[in-house]
Amino acid sequence: MKTKQRLLSAVAALCLTTFAAQAENTVLTQFITGNDVGMVPGHANHFTAFAPELPAMLARMPEINPETGLHVSEIKPGLFFVTEGVYQSAFLETNDGVIVFDAPPSFAHKLPETIAAHAPGKAINYLVYSHGHSDHIGGANIFGEVDGLQIIAHADVAESLSKSPLPGVLEPTLIFMEPYEFTFGSETVKLTPASFHAEDTDTIIYLPGQNFVMAVDTITPGEVPFMNFGATSDIGAYMTFFDTILEYDFDYILSGHVSALGTRDDVIIARGYAQDVWQTAISGMESFYDSFNEAFATIEYKNANLAYRVAIESIRRECAGEIIDRWDSKLSVVDVWADSHCQTVILHKIMH
Ligand SMILES: [Zn+2]
Repeated sequence: MKTKQRLLSAVAALCLTTFAAQAENTVLTQFITGNDVGMVPGHANHFTAFAPELPAMLARMPEINPETGLHVSEIKPGLFFVTEGVYQSAFLETNDGVIVFDAPPSFAHKLPETIAAHAPGKAINYLVYSHGHSDHIGGANIFGEVDGLQIIAHADVAESLSKSPLPGVLEPTLIFMEPYEFTFGSETVKLTPASFHAEDTDTIIYLPGQNFVMAVDTITPGEVPFMNFGATSDIGAYMTFFDTILEYDFDYILSGHVSALGTRDDVIIARGYAQDVWQTAISGMESFYDSFNEAFATIEYKNANLAYRVAIESIRRECAGEIIDRWDSKLSVVDVWADSHCQTVILHKIMH
């Protein structure tokens, strides 16, 4: 009986505490974007606390054809942009045949029919990989039966694929290490190795005749980048991406995600965002050891790992709060990913 009473009063105390915490959170609207997002009503970080996509972003989304599940548009003569709303690829019709750029598994099975509809009677001669991640090239095997198809990738990607084949990804047949260019049917394709995203080498794909560039998993037009700056493997190199790409003469940039095509302005605004996160997180790190020492002294049972986490979270929270304030009217989903962006820079700073 005593045990049961104790249990009941413990449950009552827990309920009161939870209620008080919820009430406090409701009054102070004290949700912390770095916490788990709650789907249950009353959760301190309930999803309704996050902002919807900005109208300016939604207005840019190309219309998806309900019958095909795709948007296909000819953005320059012979150059077609394809998206299903989440991933992107492109193909170029030349006098001699077709060049395809990336084959995301989410819609690659629809590409042969789409290409046949827009470039009737033309053979598919080349498939170019932007990088070695299967979410962008894992639908390549739809072209597995195409006679004489050349699959072009950087040598590092080819080496990784030969060691660890990825489902749906065909092995490259033409590899390059240095900047490489080829001309096919009077159209030129320039491929330049880069290192802004993948563990292996990335490739900047440039079509000078179309003023079109592809740099996949970099920016997300209208939105802040995906978690941890597009899950970059090297934030230091990622920060140099913007100036590198702006040296190209282009009207459109295909960055692989979100349905909108990017422009030079999108690169410039994304650079401003990334630099602001970088500077905010770096200046927050000046108080890192003060925060750590304070937390370490407060945690009576001495737990340095826990104190480290407290210090990281406090800098991350301050950084994300400032970034959200400055950017939430300019770019979508900043409250969803700002924490992860701040954390990427904080971890980089700790290790460099
Ligand atoms: Zn990727």
